[in-house]
Order: sequence, then structure tokens, then C-alpha cells
Amino acid sequence: MKGISLFIVPKFLVNADGSLGARNDVRCVSLEHKLGIHGSPTAVMSFGDNGGAVGYLVGEANKGLGYMFTMMNHARLGVGVEGMSVSERAYQKAVEYARDRVQSRAIGSPDPAGVAIIKHPDIRRMLMTMRSQIEAQRALAFYTAAALDRASRHPVASEAARNQALVNFLIPIVKGWNTEQANELTSLAVQVHGGMGFIEETGVAQYYRDARITAIYEGTTGIQALDLIGRKTFSEGGATARALLEEARATADKLAAAGYASMARNLQQAAAEAERCVAFILGSFGTQPKLAAAGSVPFLKLMGIVLGGWQLGRAALIAREKLGEDGVDEDFLKAKITTARFFAEHLLPQVGGLAAAIVDGADSVLELDDTLF
Ligand SMILES: Cc1cc2nc3c(=O)[nH]c(=O)nc-3n(C[C@H](O)[C@H](O)[C@H](O)COP(=O)(O)OP(=O)(O)OC[C@H]3O[C@@H](n4cnc5c(N)ncnc54)[C@H](O)[C@@H]3O)c2cc1C
Repeated sequence: MKGISLFIVPKFLVNADGSLGARNDVRCVSLEHKLGIHGSPTAVMSFGDNGGAVGYLVGEANKGLGYMFTMMNHARLGVGVEGMSVSERAYQKAVEYARDRVQSRAIGSPDPAGVAIIKHPDIRRMLMTMRSQIEAQRALAFYTAAALDRASRHPVASEAARNQALVNFLIPIVKGWNTEQANELTSLAVQVHGGMGFIEETGVAQYYRDARITAIYEGTTGIQALDLIGRKTFSEGGATARALLEEARATADKLAAAGYASMARNLQQAAAEAERCVAFILGSFGTQPKLAAAGSVPFLKLMGIVLGGWQLGRAALIAREKLGEDGVDEDFLKAKITTARFFAEHLLPQVGGLAAAIVDGADSVLELDDTLF
């Protein structure tokens, strides 16, 4: 029969009367030496060195993978949030350092005195790159978590099913995009620190190392991306992808009406490019899946950027509305709008390049003979 089975293998066996029994034949033989997450030991386990470990079958034989997948959506959402959280901590540290470190005069200023590096445009660009993506990722993760709750608790069956489809589509994006970007964003935090970023005592290098695993465990980005183009896009005829892009377009219309021209234009264009990629995947996956697979990770990133831009567009509209109310934190709300505009002007334009690679670039990914690598 096909399929793997799930077992519990306890450290100690349990006697018939419920008391603690003999030591089971299972032990940790070493701890792995890892690139990061040193606070979470990863063990090499040995089963049955002295004749055989006792394991207890969970559920039915050969159905272990299915049982494991009951926790998969939660685990992948959790790792997506882990990636975003490491980026957030690295950002906080970078901001702190940028306020503190004095280096070089302000560009264009006659005053020769050095200024805090947060005054330098390139440092600001790096901080905004981090800040805007973290805010977008957090919003998308919360949106997904809310859909997960509605999928399991909504009293109307059709709404529960619609939310389950949203969860299915969004989880590989939150997992893959947040964690891939965690590598880039924690690297930017090191860069903001200059040479001190490479020195352990600042602590920022740890975030860079810790971020690396998030794009690997609970399924690598490549595996998330295959899931996204296959089961989550092709198999449902692109329905959820298109429904989400439709919502992004509606938000772009509202941004245009609110006078946020660059946000509206760039979100509208990015949604159109994403549509082009969905059509390409629908057209190629069934007959030439390698073509779709060649651009699967760029497609995952593209969807992350478009949907992240959509979330920040929504946030900007809410912030704008609240600005008229009494007792609000105006600085916070204005910063929300500027952050959304930065994302629209710096991240959303990347979608065009990714779309070109996805739709027109598959051949060059596949062409070289294996021996030529
Ligand atoms: C620190 C740490 C903790 C871990 N904790 C756990 C745990 O608690 N429980 C657990 O079950 N596992 C755990 N893992 C295992 C982890 O989930 C796997 O290492 C991970 O899913 C990648 O699988 P792999 O190592 O077999 O890589 P491989 O599958 O060999 O992948 C190698 C490369 O090939 C790519 N690749 C593979 N197949 C395809 C494909 N079909 N198409 C395109 N690209 C492909 C991958 O994306 C990757 O780039 C842990 C690993 C680490 C390092």
C-alpha cells in the first residue's frame, strides 16, 4: 500500500498500570552545527540501536502524510510570520544604529560637521525598503490568519469555502515571500551598520543567520512556488488569483479617487502584469509544466509584491479617512501613507521585470544540457 505512516516514539515506555516503564531504544546521538537559530537545537536521533525502538501508530497506516498536512497551513503561516518578525527586529536595530552613528556631512550641506547616518538618502532608502515590506507582509499575514478563522468558523458554508480557498492560495505566498525577503531585509540591516554589521557584538549578524532557515524549513520556497502554480492556481482555473487581483484593482480605483496617483497607477499596472502571468500559467501548466515551473518562484514573489501593495493601499485609504478624526496619532497615520507610497513607487515597479522573466524567460532556464553546468 502507498503512503508513509505516523508514529509516536516515546523516550520511556509506559507500564500496563500507567507507571513509568523501561527506557525506549531511542536516543539523541548528536546536535547539528548550524548556520543560525542556535537557540533551537536540532538533534540527530537514532532509533533501535539495541534491538528495536517501540513506536505507536497514530491513526491508520499509510495516512501519515495526510495527518501531517492538518498542521501544515498553520506551520507555514507561522514560519512566514517568523520571517517577517526577524526582519522587524533587524529593522528596529538598524533604525537605532542609524540614529546613533555619526558619519560624513549631510549631502549638499555647507556645514562640514558629521551627521547621524539616518540623514543620508541611501540609509533612508534601505530603512524604507525594510519598513514598507515588513508592513505589507504583516498585513498580508493578518489577512490570511483572519481568512483561516473564517474558513473554520464562518456559519455560512459558501463563505467558509471561499475563505478556505483564500487561505490555500495565500499560505504559500506568505510563507515564501516573507521568508525570501527576510534574507534580503536582514542583509540590509547589516548594511545599515556598515563594518559594525559584520562584527558580532552589534547583534545584527545573528538576525541575518537566523533568517536563512525560514525559506528552507516547512517546505523550501521552490516547493511553495510549485504548490502555488499547481494546486493553488492551475487546478482551480486561476479563480482565487483572479478574485484577489480584482480586489487589488478596486483598491487602485479608490486610491485614484483619493488623489494618490502613483499608488493607483502602479497597483493597477502590477495587477495587470500579474493577470498576464496567471494566464501564462493556466495556458502552460497542463501541457508544458516545466515552462510554468521555471518561473514559479518569480511568480510567488510577484504575487507577494502585488498583494502586499494592495494591503498597503487599503491601509493608506484607512489612514486618510482617520486623519480627519479627533484625537488620532497624525504622525503615525501620515507615516502609514508615506510607507504605502514608497512601496508603490519602489516595489510595485519590480512586478513588470518579474512578469517578463516568467512569461518570456522559461526557455533560457531550461536550455543548457546538465553537463554544461
Ligand atoms: C534546522 C532545521 C530544522 C528542521 N526541523 C524539522 C522538523 O522539525 N520536522 C521536519 O519534518 N523537518 C524538519 N526539517 C527539515 C526541513 O523541513 C527540510 O530540510 C526542508 O523541507 C527541505 O527539504 P530537504 O532538506 O530534503 O531538501 P531537498 O528536498 O533536497 O531540496 C534541495 C533543493 O532542491 C529543491 N527542490 C526539491 N524538490 C524540488 C522540486 N520538485 N522542484 C523544484 N525544486 C525542488 C529545493 O527547493 C531545494 O532548493 C528541518 C531542517 C532544518 C535545517
